[in-house]
Amino acid sequence: MNRKTTGIWAAAALSLMLAACGSSAATTDTAASAEKTEAASAAEETKQAAEKTEGNTAVKTVTPGSLIMCTNAEFPPYEFHNGNEIVGIDVEICNAIAEKLGLKLEIEDIAFDAIIPEIVSGKADLGAAGMTVTEDRKQNVDFSDSYAHATQVIIIREDSDIAGPDDLKGKLVGVQQGTTGDLYVSADLGDDAVERYSKGMEAVQALTQSKVDAVIIDGETAKQYVKEVPGLRILDESYTDEEYAVAVQKGNTQLLDAINTAIGELKKDGTFDKIVEKYIKAE
Ligand code: GLN
Repeated sequence: MNRKTTGIWAAAALSLMLAACGSSAATTDTAASAEKTEAASAAEETKQAAEKTEGNTAVKTVTPGSLIMCTNAEFPPYEFHNGNEIVGIDVEICNAIAEKLGLKLEIEDIAFDAIIPEIVSGKADLGAAGMTVTEDRKQNVDFSDSYAHATQVIIIREDSDIAGPDDLKGKLVGVQQGTTGDLYVSADLGDDAVERYSKGMEAVQALTQSKVDAVIIDGETAKQYVKEVPGLRILDESYTDEEYAVAVQKGNTQLLDAINTAIGELKKDGTFDKIVEKYIKAE
């Protein structure tokens, strides 16, 4: 190889090297700009999360970052066990509310009549348990806007001669302890006319065994029970009309306002109806 040729090769090698450098520089540039974009979007996400949290710093919860819902998971279709999981309309609504508030939903499954004390003593943020708004309960907790219309209905054995609420005089009525069914029947018919059970399903089983003459319980739950237990029917005439709402500690207007805003949005954007339709099939 003469000098000239060497020179040409050297030039070629140099230009190749430059090209390689160029391209590697270009690669680095692309990587850098990708990194930059990633960093920017991460920063944007952090900013958005911060804004979200900032918007919610007003919403103080029992455990920061969590929204503790207490319920009694014996109340299908609103809350019930599905394997190890607690599911139902209230669970999904509260999950959607928690999501809107940037909080993680935690469920505490306790006796129905322990829910209000749990909120009053500040151990849970809210109670969502197909809970009916009553004047008495309003003395102890604040209620959100109503999210469901409900009824108390009368379940009887198929062969029963009870045809309406008036026929309950002198009969023994099974109820779930501490529920509006319990409260109203006790007030109307007297304590002796009421047999209290800790679970609605236990009252229904007592009815099939003729230990009680009727069961008074919430309409949607009654439908589920009657589907599962043969030989029973629900009277057309309901016992009461009620409204379900979420309960929070008295005076916790920040949480209450946030819940009401979330309920309003969920109703408006159709999420609410979708949740209800999932659990209550249109008849
Ligand atoms: N709606 C009834 C009440 O509030 C029953 C609710 C329930 O059993 N979970 O008392």
